[in-house]
Amino acid sequence: EAFNARVAEASALNAFLVATPDHALAAADAADAARAAGETLKPMAGVPIGMKDLFCTAGVRTTAASHILEDFTPTYESTVSQNLWNAGAGMLGKLNLDQFAMGSSNETSYFGNVISPWRRRDGGNAALAPGGSSGGSSSAVAARLCPGATGTDTGGSIRQPAAFTGISGIKPTYGRCSRWGTIAFASSLDQAGPMARTVRDCAIMLEAMAGFDAKDSTSLQLDVPAWEAGLSGDLRGKRVGIPKEYRVDGMPAEIEALWQQGIAWLRDAGAEIVEVSLPHTQYALPAYYIIAPAEASSNLARYDGVRYGLRDLPDGANLQQMYAATRAAGFGPEVKRRIMIGTYVLSAGFYDAYYTQAQKVRALIARDFERAWEQCDLLLAPTAPSAAFALGEKSADPIAMYLNDVFTVPSSLAGLPAMSVPGGLDAAGLPLGLQIIGKALDEQSVLNAGLAIE
Ligand code: GLN
Repeated sequence: EAFNARVAEASALNAFLVATPDHALAAADAADAARAAGETLKPMAGVPIGMKDLFCTAGVRTTAASHILEDFTPTYESTVSQNLWNAGAGMLGKLNLDQFAMGSSNETSYFGNVISPWRRRDGGNAALAPGGSSGGSSSAVAARLCPGATGTDTGGSIRQPAAFTGISGIKPTYGRCSRWGTIAFASSLDQAGPMARTVRDCAIMLEAMAGFDAKDSTSLQLDVPAWEAGLSGDLRGKRVGIPKEYRVDGMPAEIEALWQQGIAWLRDAGAEIVEVSLPHTQYALPAYYIIAPAEASSNLARYDGVRYGLRDLPDGANLQQMYAATRAAGFGPEVKRRIMIGTYVLSAGFYDAYYTQAQKVRALIARDFERAWEQCDLLLAPTAPSAAFALGEKSADPIAMYLNDVFTVPSSLAGLPAMSVPGGLDAAGLPLGLQIIGKALDEQSVLNAGLAIE
């Protein structure tokens, strides 16, 4: 009831698109009943969470923050959300995001931007971006509207918003969480994960969310490790690599200082620190902004006015004109930009020049990490090259916005687990995040390093 009240009170943040107080209360009642009956409580019994509005929820409107799905109510439940309900959690509501998860500031939402609960200490009272695309999730957790929220991460959408709002979030290894019932952006990159106040809460939530699902062909057929039980802040025997290519030009001194502080914390926890090289890092961002739009242009072809959501049928229009009118009205400018880029790089004349090249770069990035693992078990880097920026500051310049993803996309391209944990505050009092990247399937070491920093 307290969380339901918080959600209603804090509507100015625009974090929730839909509130589902009864869903949360039903989970709480079920937990009470189980307790009264002396049953063992489920791992998330009664815990009320927020659900990014990219996960289909049966009977609850699911929009991907778009106009084209504004009136879409799925008849089915995503595997990840179902797994959370099976673990006893309840839903406070559906969280705002960048439209179809495309963005780094939550400003591409059809339902308006989300506001971060943080403000600069140095007087500037401008509303700050909560990061994106999981900006509703980050803002809601940071403002204590919910103890945890789901996110999805294609190129950083769990980690960068977590960093901007002083919370934790982990993107697991690609394939750990089923993509079934999660609205697709770029299928070879999309991964669900938790966003929460603490590393332990992330471990608990991730355990509930993950698991093999026959309905997703890329789901990993592996048991879910007992990550929470395995949590330890002791890093003795672990080697942590510091990738020198992440020391990019123009990185604020405060981010560099945060990184040094992170190194000191991990050393205190027993880790050995080594410098490593990921030589193709500079090509990750351009490759990502070819591959992700290419896959998006294909995935979003299904929104044609026939099967889902909006249909714009001008008088006398034929089928072609109906498609065009629906898509013109239904998609926002950033989504259209991605579809244009994606169809361009996949077109016959440019496929080899762009898409094939980007796939080759992706293989080189993955190989960089493989080589690094010969020298270390984990990597430590900043999550983002800046603290939260003001709403509107980058929205007119897509390239400036894309550049904010420079530290998060390499591990996405390689499918590796990566986490952001709060590292401290900058001079303006804004949170900065530290990122830990791990070997495939080694979420445990990533979480443990997160705990050591936290
Ligand atoms: N900011 C990146 C993009 O706009 C990542 C988004 C995401 O991870 N969903 O593509």
